[in-house]
Amino acid sequence: MTSDDAAQPCPMPNAHRRLMDCHAQWHRLHEVYFDPHEFRLTLNSLVPNLRNVTWLLQKQKAQLAGFEEWYPRFQQNSGSSEIMRWVVKSRNRITKEADLELLSELQVIWHQDWLKRTIGTSSKYPPRMSIREIVSEVMRIYRPPFGTMTVKRRWVDRALPTWELLDATSEAYSRLEGLLAEGHSVAGVPVCDLEAHDRECVTSALRASGTRLRCMLDAKDDLEANFDLVDGVEIESTSLTIERDEDLLAESVERYGGRLILPAGDPISAVPGFMASARLLMEKDGQHATFTFLYRGDALLHMGGLIFDSQSSKILAFEKLASEMKAANADGILVIAESWFALPTERERELETIFFPARDRLDRKEALTVYAATRDGRTAGMISMVMRDDAGRAICAEPVEMDDPVANTLAPILRMWAEMDSTTD
Ligand SMILES: [Zn+2]
Ligand SMILES: [Zn+2]
Repeated sequence: MTSDDAAQPCPMPNAHRRLMDCHAQWHRLHEVYFDPHEFRLTLNSLVPNLRNVTWLLQKQKAQLAGFEEWYPRFQQNSGSSEIMRWVVKSRNRITKEADLELLSELQVIWHQDWLKRTIGTSSKYPPRMSIREIVSEVMRIYRPPFGTMTVKRRWVDRALPTWELLDATSEAYSRLEGLLAEGHSVAGVPVCDLEAHDRECVTSALRASGTRLRCMLDAKDDLEANFDLVDGVEIESTSLTIERDEDLLAESVERYGGRLILPAGDPISAVPGFMASARLLMEKDGQHATFTFLYRGDALLHMGGLIFDSQSSKILAFEKLASEMKAANADGILVIAESWFALPTERERELETIFFPARDRLDRKEALTVYAATRDGRTAGMISMVMRDDAGRAICAEPVEMDDPVANTLAPILRMWAEMDSTTD
């Protein structure tokens, strides 16, 4: 950003530089995750630095435009945040008393299907063991017969047992980033002149969104491994990457001659508008990828695509989406997907046999669905049956409301919200 002509002098260089240090240190913490000694050392310097961002701001308050407005608001929010209270307390523990009480845990999650999931936690695997080594050990001793298994390595502090520490520090970072973004914006400096770090992603750019940095979300991928238990093979994480393409929307709008609109309002009220756009896309392209739109209230936080090549990687992709939504504090989701439908045949009804999944059937029907859910319990959904003309072109029928819009795919997200509602932060 330093080469940008619009860059102006940073209104709070000390605090801002310290925040950038925190960003770089967070990546260092991630890199030394499997080395207990280095992990403790790095955490012991990251946490006080997170704390010091606000101290450095306060020292400079006389020169900061609107400080009495935006700073107390941040303090109030921090007071009700478990994470920010933890940062303050931990900083005191680290500098005055002793180390944090770090625990290294291994979490094994068995996904039987969309609705059933079993979680086990064990501390018997030493942190130095890599995920791969642990996985072969776990698979040797205990291998569930079907579904998928996810193995995650977690560091937690005894004083904050529900948060993994990269998550906790990333959350604190994004709150501080939002604070500095507000300070810069009030000072009339959207882009400041601080030099970027050596590490590519550590720049002076500030986001007001309160969501986690993409680089922080992506970095965590290597702390877990996913296995397909039927095939006995690792599911490549690339198949469940949640792609985030900020230019996707602009590109699409252009491609469809400006006819694509992004509906306003919350995800529930946006369902008919998204269905109209999805039909345009479907009829033009003959197919529709799975798109997800994450909301906080009426604000669209993010749009992205989900990629999966099997039912098990689909479950994992939505599980991953659920944890990203938690990190983004998203309280609404809308999904556009092409789906397959089928009814059991006479013969299958007679035999009361297992009904094959629609996607594997020859008599499947094709449909376009748009469905949405919010954390406060509202849902909505529409479906449009897709027909093909002789040339194979898709024609979308008039959409109708879905009887039961809570698709299985939303189960991981509804569960994540329920868990958040039952904790304090
Ligand atoms: Zn700055
Ligand atoms: Zn980064």
